This record gives sequence, C-alpha cells and structure tokens, in this order.
Amino acid sequence: MIKPPSILVAGSSNTDMVIMADHFPSPGETILGGRFLMNPGGKGANQAVAAARLGGNVAFLSKIGKDVFGEETMAHLKTEGIDVSGVAVDDQQPSGVAQIIVDKNAENCIVVAPGANMTLSPKDADTHIQLLENAEVLLMQLEIPIETIVYLAEKAHEWRKKTILNPAPAQKLPDELYACLYAITPNETETAFLTGIKVTDEITAGQAADFFHKKGVKTVIITLGAAGAYVSSVDFKGILSAPAVSALDTTAAGDTFNGALAAALSNGKDLESAVAFANKAAARAVTKMGAQSSIPTLEELSKPV
Ligand code: ADP
Repeated sequence: MIKPPSILVAGSSNTDMVIMADHFPSPGETILGGRFLMNPGGKGANQAVAAARLGGNVAFLSKIGKDVFGEETMAHLKTEGIDVSGVAVDDQQPSGVAQIIVDKNAENCIVVAPGANMTLSPKDADTHIQLLENAEVLLMQLEIPIETIVYLAEKAHEWRKKTILNPAPAQKLPDELYACLYAITPNETETAFLTGIKVTDEITAGQAADFFHKKGVKTVIITLGAAGAYVSSVDFKGILSAPAVSALDTTAAGDTFNGALAAALSNGKDLESAVAFANKAAARAVTKMGAQSSIPTLEELSKPV
C-alpha cells in the first residue's frame, strides 16, 4: 500500500514574473526591458518543493485561481511528486502572482498580488483535514490568512503533530499560535521584528529564543545566513554552522532550509541532525541562481559542490 504523505505544507503558491531592466521605471514612465522569466514561487510552494526534493513525502494545502497560472502551478507541483489533492481552485480570485523587476545592479522591486492565496480559509483546511491527520509534520509560513494557520496549528497540536512555523513575511502572531508550535524558524530580521531583540551573537540569540520559549514554543531555530542557525531546545542550545560555500544568490535559502528541516524530521532524524541537514541543503541552494531552480535534490546533495 502507498503510504500517505507524512508532511503537510500549508501555504502560498505564486507565479513569479521577472523582467530584467536597465533601471526601474519612474512613475508614469514606460521602459523597454530585457529578458522575461516566468518561475513558480510562493513560500508555501517553494518549501513543499524543497521538502519533496530532499526526501520528504509531501502533500500541499493551497489555493489557486481558475486560470492558466493555476494550471501551470498544479502541473508543476505534480512533476515534483507532491500530493496536490489539497490544492483547491477559487473561481472568484486569480492565482497569486508576483511582478518582479530586476535592475542592472541586481536590485529588485517586487509587487505581489496574493489573489486566491488569501482565500484559503479554515473551512478549506477542514475539507482536507485528512491530510493533516495522516501527516507527522505540518509546515507553514505567513502568506495565507492567519486564521487558517491558527486553525491548522491548533488541530495539529491536539493530534500531537510537529508544527513548524516559518514566520515569513513577518507579522505579529497571536499567543494561541505560539503555544501550538513545535518549532519556529525566523531569520534575523523576523526575529528582531517578533521579539524586539537584535541577534548579534549567541547570547542575544539565546535571549530571543527565550522570548519564544516563554510563549510556549518548544524549539527555536534562528537562521543566521552564512553562519548557519542558532538552535534552542531542552536538549541543545548553540549554533550549528552552515558549510562554507561561495554564495551566488540567496533567494530561497530560507525556503530550502525549512523544507529540508521538515523532510529530515519526518524521516525520523533528531533535531540536531535535521538542522545540520537543513544547513547543508540551504548552503547548496545559495550556490545557484533562482528560487526553486536552486533547491537541490537528495542526489545533488550527495555529490561534492
Ligand atoms: P532567509 O533566506 O530566510 O533570509 P537566512 O539568510 O538566514 O534566511 O538563510 C537561511 C539558511 O540558508 C541559513 O541558515 C544557512 O543554512 C543557509 N545560508 C544562507 N546564506 C548562506 C551562505 N552565504 N553560505 C552558506 N549558507 C547560507
């Protein structure tokens, strides 16, 4: 019998439309750009793809529009081996899109139209609650409505599943959500936003971690870019370093980290090994350009850089 997915990722999917240009247009100005690229994105989809490529058995709970972008997204997720039975179609709202302009200095300017992502309701989650019932790990970000995130986290807590929340993009979180989390995985910016503490060393990282522990979060994993991640749990406190690599593009580093973490935990790895694996996978992702295109597979990861 085929095993049901042990990871449920609940989150956003977008289509990133990227135009390379010499400079950003001023208000009212039309400019001719260069290359155009259309890439699958959205933190939810990126993390689902990362978890699937890195050894996880993944189901995705998301909402797309009844349009060509939604169809492409579905087809793409299927090719990644992701269970898409929880990807619902909204017939009112369009699929999420992000318009991105990249200038000659590699700076970018982004507008996201979340569309159907923001209509993923607790009721939709309930329709597919079987996916959570079957899973061991629930992985979420903050690009879908917060009520849905809280609803799923509370159910997962009741059913003793491990919920990992990647609090990106940062927004204030309700206390009842913290109390349901197995792990929170902010980067340094998100940590400062949520705790008011600027992480500069292990001591300040520990103080920020205590903020989350006091709210009821069991495990705190603060990602520190090239330095790796600070981990705080009952059994372990300290920095686990990322492998030194020559970084080319850090897009989706955090998404790769979170997907890899979920994959490793769902495969029974202990916390320290799971974070080490996430560091290794995310460090590999920064050596390649792009978002999902930079996420390594298990096979790629087993080969030297
Ligand atoms: P985000 O991408 O969300 O801002 P970080 O910058 O903290 O998050 O990166 C997430 C993870 O990606 C880090 O914990 C680390 O494992 C890896 N990483 C990021 N930048 C580098 C780098 N320059 N070298 C090696 N690993 C990196």
